[in-house]
Amino acid sequence: MSHPFKLALVGIGKIARDQHLPAIAGEAGIELAAAVSRNGRVDHVPNFTDIAALIESGLAIDAVSLCTPPVGRHKIAAQALAAGFHVMLEKPPGATLAEVHQLQAQAVAAGRSLFATWHSRHAAGVAAAAMWLADKRITRASIVWREDIRVWHPGQEWILEAGGLGVFDPGINALSIVTAILPGALRIEKAKLVFPEGRGAPIAAELAMVHDDTAPVMADFDFRQTGPQSWDITIETDQGTLMLTEGGARLWIDGVEQAAQGIGEYPALYRRFAELVAAGQSDCDLRPLTLVADAFLLGERTETDPFAF
Ligand code: NAP
Repeated sequence: MSHPFKLALVGIGKIARDQHLPAIAGEAGIELAAAVSRNGRVDHVPNFTDIAALIESGLAIDAVSLCTPPVGRHKIAAQALAAGFHVMLEKPPGATLAEVHQLQAQAVAAGRSLFATWHSRHAAGVAAAAMWLADKRITRASIVWREDIRVWHPGQEWILEAGGLGVFDPGINALSIVTAILPGALRIEKAKLVFPEGRGAPIAAELAMVHDDTAPVMADFDFRQTGPQSWDITIETDQGTLMLTEGGARLWIDGVEQAAQGIGEYPALYRRFAELVAAGQSDCDLRPLTLVADAFLLGERTETDPFAF
């Protein structure tokens, strides 16, 4: 493999432009060598309209990073692995659990790295939160993840279609954090899902989870928040209360803010991808997607007013 390894970025939309392109430019171990998108383009590299055209071109590529919506991502990832590329997946890693299990097996058989990313796990307060919680007894936790869909997902009709995850698109970020920092196992006990009339994915959800079969963990996800946004997690323990605010960027213990750590969420993802490829390893933790799937299995569904972007 070449060093720095040559990467193609696939799905040139909001997150590719806002986060992936700057993070790749800052990672010495990775060179952006191509872009793949039906409409989006990246200057100064060869552009292709689909992954098959990239593969057919014979351009030297070591890895791809996929930033397309979850529905349809499996097909692109499978083609990439079959072509011998390492694969990095935006969150959520797929539209179903089975399709990601299949990719895991394909990556092992091909001897390639598969990295299912969870960018929020690299927010500045998360690693220190996990360390602090490791020896505590959890008594209760709550998540409030409320954001304005029109601000963060402008015009993204796919997000409210079946498979787009709806409010779980941001909500899964909170679930990626709690599954990383809580010392025990989390599972869903009850869920309520609110679907706008005529839409295939929920715009709001309430989850009642349980940690290690003892501590209640409640989640309140809402895409209709205007004004100040809320991305907060509060965890009560036998030895004090931990809070992560601003999506995990700030950490508080018993009301006292702790020092932040880290190089930034997306720079950390590309650093980790370079390490995984160099070590011949994969990283594919499906616990956040499993919780979302279980919420869809158990959730009581109600309908609300139609939603237009
Ligand atoms: P987006 O702005 O809609 O960009 C996705 C791009 O994928 C589109 O611009 C489109 O480019 C391409 N695409 C391929 N097949 C598509 C299809 N069937 N429908 C729509 N677009 C398709 O979405 P995004 O916000 O970048 O999100 C992409 C992924 O990143 C999602 O999994 C999301 O959860 C994740 N993410 C988003 C954010 C955020 O704040 N927006 C943050 C973190 C992670 P072409 O038309 O050029 O093919």
